[in-house]
Amino acid sequence: MQYALDKPVHASIGREKYQCSISWRNGKFIADEPVKTGGQDLGPDPYTLLLSSLASCTLITLRMYIDRKGWAIDNIEVNANMYQTTEGDKLITTLDRDIKFLSEITEEQRQRLTQIAAACPISKILENQISVRTFTFSDADTEKKRSYTNGEVTIVWKPELCKHSARCGNGLPEVFDIKAKPWINAQGASTEKIIEQVSKCPTGALTTFKNESSSGTK
Ligand code: SF4
Repeated sequence: MQYALDKPVHASIGREKYQCSISWRNGKFIADEPVKTGGQDLGPDPYTLLLSSLASCTLITLRMYIDRKGWAIDNIEVNANMYQTTEGDKLITTLDRDIKFLSEITEEQRQRLTQIAAACPISKILENQISVRTFTFSDADTEKKRSYTNGEVTIVWKPELCKHSARCGNGLPEVFDIKAKPWINAQGASTEKIIEQVSKCPTGALTTFKNESSSGTK
């Protein structure tokens, strides 16, 4: 199993209704709720984020295809919205996207681009089987930790956060071997390689600090 993102999306909320601070690979933004549901509308709400994902994936996929074909199609726009209905106790969600090409296109191109849009990666996710796995932790859980050092760097492992397949073992088997005891051998690779692999742990179960400064790297 390989996660799609090297760095997971990280979100947090405090007491301020309902500002969520979202950190992604290369920055941060705020998500919020509209005023009518008690928020301050300081950022996109979760439905908007979902639709934005579909809209942006559609545009990126089309752009890549059009550029590969060398077609003279400049700007493209997408409007995305959704509605929900129920059938018995089943919730049915319908997402609609309208794609507008701001250039002349042939009927053949329109048909092909409709197919390409329908096959964009986020469409495929939404139209195929999805499961959401939920793991819950408390501060007390994340207090439990074990440390392993090569004298230069210390690897800290929080077992309660380690719920996923052995990505670290695949990436750096000389150090992370779930069949060995202890399973982490901090002498197995250079400090640089250890720090690089630990930074890819998706759950935060692994962190490192350099022994001299004791400053965290994650
Ligand atoms: S330590 Fe991180 S990368 Fe390694 S198995 Fe646990 S969650 Fe996965």
